[in-house]
Amino acid sequence: MEPENEEKIKAILEEKQRLDKWFPLIRKKLTGVCQCGCGKPSSKNDDKYYKFSCCHLFPKSIFKSILDHPENYLERAFWGGCHTNMDEAGMIKWKDKADWEQAKEKFYLLAPLLTDKEISHKFYRNLESLIYYGKLAD
Ligand SMILES: [Zn+2]
Repeated sequence: MEPENEEKIKAILEEKQRLDKWFPLIRKKLTGVCQCGCGKPSSKNDDKYYKFSCCHLFPKSIFKSILDHPENYLERAFWGGCHTNMDEAGMIKWKDKADWEQAKEKFYLLAPLLTDKEISHKFYRNLESLIYYGKLAD
């Protein structure tokens, strides 16, 4: 095997191991109710789908350094679309959600832990701008 591929596979496995610990940890912290304000139940008590309600605040695909940080999550119902909306309907709507203050607290805690490369990502710049100025960066 090429050494680069070996490195990649090692990184993927390591990431998976970190997430395998993160999801059950976050499950314990979930309330059982979606925190967007809709009042729908989350999947906390669903052994098969509980992971779908553990939503990364900073997406795990970009922010590897904190992909398993115990505060890098928001609770969202999966059935009914709140998790999907959070990921796909645009960050601008996050500030209208019931847990926006909580999300900001998490941002203040997590932002100093990010790498320079992570901070230069568009997602970070938008979230930072939304928190400090109430609008997206670009
Ligand atoms: Zn919801």
